[in-house]
Amino acid sequence: MKVGKIVVLFVLLFSLVTWKVNAKSITPMASNGTIDLRMQSLSTGIPLNGQWEFHWKVFLDPDLPNDKSGKLVDFPFRWTDKHSDGTKLPSFGYATYRVRVLLPANTDSLSMKVPDTYSAYKLFINGKLVSSNGIISTSAEGFRPYWRPTLINIPPGRDTLQVTLHIANFAHYKGGISQPLLVGKQQQLGLSENRASSIDLLLTGCLLMAGIFFMGLYLVGNRDKTILFFALFCLLYSYRIIGVDNYLLHSIFPGMSWHLTVRLEYISLFLSIGVFSLYTRYLYPQDIHKVVIRCTNAVCFSFTFLTLALSPYYFTQLLTPFLLVATFCIFYIPYIYTIAYRRKRSGAIYTLMSALAIVTAFAISLLHFWGYIDRYQMVSFVCYIAFFFLQSLILSHRVYAALKQARTEAEQGLLVKSEFLSTMSHEIRTPLNAVIGMSHLLLNNNPRPDQEENLKVMLFSANNLLVIVNDILDYNKIEAGKITFERMEMDVADIAKYIVSGLNATATDKNIALKFEVDQELKDLVIGDPTRFTQVLTNLLHNAIKFTDAGYVAVTIEVLKQNATAIYLKVAVKDTGIGIPLKNQQRIFERFTQADSSISRSFGGTGLGLAISKRILELQDSSLDLVSEEGKGSVFYFEQLFTKGKKIVPKDITQSAPLSQKPFQDVAVLVVDDNMINVMVARKFLENWGATVDVAMDGQEALDQLDVNKHQLVLMDLHMPVMNGYEASKKMRTDGVVIPIIALTANLPEEIYGRLKDSGIDDVVVKPFLPDQLYKKICQYLNLENLS
Ligand code: ADP
Repeated sequence: MKVGKIVVLFVLLFSLVTWKVNAKSITPMASNGTIDLRMQSLSTGIPLNGQWEFHWKVFLDPDLPNDKSGKLVDFPFRWTDKHSDGTKLPSFGYATYRVRVLLPANTDSLSMKVPDTYSAYKLFINGKLVSSNGIISTSAEGFRPYWRPTLINIPPGRDTLQVTLHIANFAHYKGGISQPLLVGKQQQLGLSENRASSIDLLLTGCLLMAGIFFMGLYLVGNRDKTILFFALFCLLYSYRIIGVDNYLLHSIFPGMSWHLTVRLEYISLFLSIGVFSLYTRYLYPQDIHKVVIRCTNAVCFSFTFLTLALSPYYFTQLLTPFLLVATFCIFYIPYIYTIAYRRKRSGAIYTLMSALAIVTAFAISLLHFWGYIDRYQMVSFVCYIAFFFLQSLILSHRVYAALKQARTEAEQGLLVKSEFLSTMSHEIRTPLNAVIGMSHLLLNNNPRPDQEENLKVMLFSANNLLVIVNDILDYNKIEAGKITFERMEMDVADIAKYIVSGLNATATDKNIALKFEVDQELKDLVIGDPTRFTQVLTNLLHNAIKFTDAGYVAVTIEVLKQNATAIYLKVAVKDTGIGIPLKNQQRIFERFTQADSSISRSFGGTGLGLAISKRILELQDSSLDLVSEEGKGSVFYFEQLFTKGKKIVPKDITQSAPLSQKPFQDVAVLVVDDNMINVMVARKFLENWGATVDVAMDGQEALDQLDVNKHQLVLMDLHMPVMNGYEASKKMRTDGVVIPIIALTANLPEEIYGRLKDSGIDDVVVKPFLPDQLYKKICQYLNLENLS
């Protein structure tokens, strides 16, 4: 919506209000102390305005007939205002107001609405006391102010009413009365009274709830000051709805002291304007003028302080100067919202609309206070609801935007982290390849016993580092949801046996027995991911050995259930080691967590292994469970459902790299890698096995050097200058080259699987590789299985 349209809407609303003002001027007026309502229908409340008798410093006997000793004033009349003859009376004093009301004949069931006065009164009709507020007195002694508008029933049977009003004031800066008395049909006045109370209660409820809600939002987490100030504004303003004008609060708690409520009334006014300007400041910090907000706040907060410190006679005088500040804000705040709208701030259109709504409500309130118009409670109600609804919308918008931004940042952070870890581990794996490879070569080159010792330490550390890098990379992948599982036939028992035998030496070194038991009922291969199965079991077994100093470690595979197509297995690793205290049994499954801080010092480790194993199993619909007792040992186990594959056939012994033989005597390999150390490692292995090695430093060189009559295999690095491995392989395939191309890369195969296939690369060996792995791959592609 255009700003112009909003302004037009506002003007229309205002015209409606002023049209009503004009309509008001045709009501009858008292003249010479008498008001003639004989020709009025009285279906709506008629104000008893006009010329009333006024007797200063006298409480006239309400039974006395008219006497002409008083002067005529224009009712409603505050004696502290300047009179037409230029006189002005002091604030403290007392007086009698009188008027004679001529009613239509035979009108029964009439009521009179009596407003609050400054600041206590007694009202008599035909000599009878019908209403009072507080206690009137001719001096401050015995005087008690009170404010509560009331609706009274006019005694029936008389068509002339002698209305006598005694007002006293020894508390407020103003004295007298500023609102009219209304006379009308009981039903009508009662109805509008009830309506006014309902609207006030409804609005108070809405504001209180909004205030509490936003305060909760602020306290619980979103420490956005805009939300705090809006919550405070709602709470302060809710008091103004119920504690001012109709003074509903005083009907609910009639015993409340006037001195307390008048203070609350003024403080809530000063503070709500101050808090609202602060709210605007935080909502549009670039659009407001800091000096203006500071000045407004200075006035609001110092006036609040004065209200607390001074007596009502003094602080009630602050209202007139404060109305100037309020009027200024009525123009300034919509002006800021218009600027924010023009500058296309988020949600500014709602702010602008809400500003117009609140300005209308404030304007009505001010004009009513100055006596120009009625209260137009319904219009104000709609304005207030529109204002609070629109403001809530803006804040919700704001909270949502903040959450969205935080999420985007978090996602971006995660992405950056995962890319960083990926790159770093790639970079670390490449030199590790050289360290591990060279250690193997040196160990197989008949080192001196002292050198052998050092080389073993070096190899052990390099392997440890590799495990850590792999763990971090793995966890990162799991967190980023990038992990995928292979589905292939695997022999669970065989894998477990292989892992157990691989760790046998470590267990023997520690003098602990390593047991392995497989259920005889397990006769089938199962469909699963052998790499991940190996990873979980190795980790559990490795931990069990690490945390056991005496006794045994046992791996068991048990068939829990099976049918023709599926099998339910329980894999357990039991140890008689240090055990885990109950309080730590949950924690150890969290990443980077160890049972206690001394663990890393005495046993090493990163605390990632169990977290990874747990997630790997969970992603396959299983779970990692633990039974452990401190000092006695632990059992880590998981139960997993597998689809059955083929029957197990007993296997030959696995091949392993025969480092001392020359099985590749007639094989020529083209090694393509720009990293001299990698070339050296690969060359040493291959030459050890008897192969002839040619080297190309990039893809282009490889294309130039490849001789299909000579070379039987290409080992291809992927990241190289001039031409990378993918491109070179692709070109070779287009040129009709059919010999196997095996990529040597520090990337994980899953990450580059698609690109490998497109380039015609047959397989991958991941750096850093064990001699065995490279050996097996070459055997597989050159059909040389039986050479070892
Ligand atoms: P790491 O072994 O690298 O510290 P893990 O995630 O594999 O990380 O293990 C986390 C912690 O769980 C270990 O530090 C240890 O405190 C405890 N823990 C794991 N396995 C055992 C076990 N078999 N016996 C006793 N404590 C264990």
